[in-house]
Amino acid sequence: MKRITVAKGDGIGPEIMDATLKIILAAGAQIEIDEIEVGEKVYLAGNTSGIAKESWDIIRRNKVFLKAPITTPQGGGYKSLNVTTRKFLGLYANVRPCMSLHPFVKTKHPNMDVVIIRENEEDLYAGIEHQQTDEVVQCLKLISRPGSEKIIRYAFEYAKQYGRKKVTCFTKDNIMKQTDGLFHKVFDEIAKEYPEIENEHWIVDIGSAKLADTPEAFDVVVLPNLYGDVLSDVAAQIAGSVGLAGSANIGEECAMFEAIHGSAPRRAGQNLANPSGLLQGAIMMLVHIGQNDIAEKVQNAWLKTIEDGIHTYDIFKEGISKQKVGTKEFADAVIERLGQKPSQLKAVNYEKGSALKLPKYVRKAPAKKELLGVDIFVHWSGTDPNELAEILKKIELENVKLSMITNRGIKVWPEGFEETFCTDHWRCRFKDKDGKTITKQDIIELLSRAEKNNIDTIKTENLYAFDGVQAFSLGQGQ
Ligand code: NAD
Repeated sequence: MKRITVAKGDGIGPEIMDATLKIILAAGAQIEIDEIEVGEKVYLAGNTSGIAKESWDIIRRNKVFLKAPITTPQGGGYKSLNVTTRKFLGLYANVRPCMSLHPFVKTKHPNMDVVIIRENEEDLYAGIEHQQTDEVVQCLKLISRPGSEKIIRYAFEYAKQYGRKKVTCFTKDNIMKQTDGLFHKVFDEIAKEYPEIENEHWIVDIGSAKLADTPEAFDVVVLPNLYGDVLSDVAAQIAGSVGLAGSANIGEECAMFEAIHGSAPRRAGQNLANPSGLLQGAIMMLVHIGQNDIAEKVQNAWLKTIEDGIHTYDIFKEGISKQKVGTKEFADAVIERLGQKPSQLKAVNYEKGSALKLPKYVRKAPAKKELLGVDIFVHWSGTDPNELAEILKKIELENVKLSMITNRGIKVWPEGFEETFCTDHWRCRFKDKDGKTITKQDIIELLSRAEKNNIDTIKTENLYAFDGVQAFSLGQGQ
């Protein structure tokens, strides 16, 4: 018997959760349930995180959380409970299988069977944003080696466990050489440990186009957070419907399982919603807690129900579907078919599934880190970069000189183009005149001189080399 935490959520949440629990309990799931309240009611009661402190204790004790969709109230101040849960519990892997159910659910891609594995904690979703000048705001994109190693290893281990043949990685490392470059590099390193699994990398733009056009060419796809967020919805939609997909959020200690769709408030309370997305989440949960036989029984009965044309309104099509049913009737139809297998759709076998056990991240020996210069970001409302260069030359030190100015990454001094549009946000690079290292004291001296000269410095970034390799971007056009 495994104790799990359940939240019925908002909108259609309670109906689809009741249907899901009824099905898995009828199949013999050995679970005990602690129910907690999350979402709209909690938000509106004045708790901006949408969850009470005591509920965290229950989630952390049980470690396995089945969550129905919730409504995040409109307006500022309310934090997304999903994002908070993923981060607090370290749920670094988001796993979304997207499989077409041709010819029973309409899809342009009859042979699609893709699993999207999205990094869930870092990238632009670290949520570190600042406004620094009148005209410019920034969001920090953080990619870490441990974060990348964990998610990429998870993708290969997943492929190995489920007998999948290929893992594809998407990044934009032709532009983001440091951040996406690290993700790609780690992918190449880890791929070598799995010679039996094919691996490939695509630049995310053309890769996405190919995924949307010929998804059957993909198997497991591993992506940094933002690309994964976008593409997992695209993949679910083109497989048939976002209403059919579930997702698992996996961490080293805890895991959360859910449908990928929202709380569909307009459909609430009418016995209309399709419980399949949440049921798919619950099936992944059963595999995770080692009740594979139950998971397999439920999945095969669900496939048989779909195959028998018993469909909720969202997937109902005249000529293909046989019977339009509500949430409850759909659940009953799945229960009637427990023990049966689909005849046309591929029956599943979850004998080998289990929660993946990954080795702990091992920190590498630190590299030799050298300070080669500093980028001082300046808020300046002028328009001529040559004029700014003259001002900045006043703060140069004997050894540390202004070497470049960029505006939104494009080099505008020396030898910029008059045509280049400039904002009020300037990156001013200072380096040793002979290419030697500089000191932190040099940076402090530069900043102190800037202050005396009324230069509005908004931030600095140190320019490092790690083991002799320059680890910062050049100016575009440099
Ligand atoms: P939604 O997914 O709730 O609905 C999008 C469309 O899909 C609607 O037309 C809806 O009727 C339909 N739909 C969704 N699930 C369905 C189901 N199971 N059966 C039949 N039809 C279904 O997205 P939305 O309208 O953008 O968001 C509504 C609310 O859900 C918002 O408050 C949003 O913040 C929240 N939301 C929550 C989660 C979550 O808790 N994981 C995820 C996404 C959105």
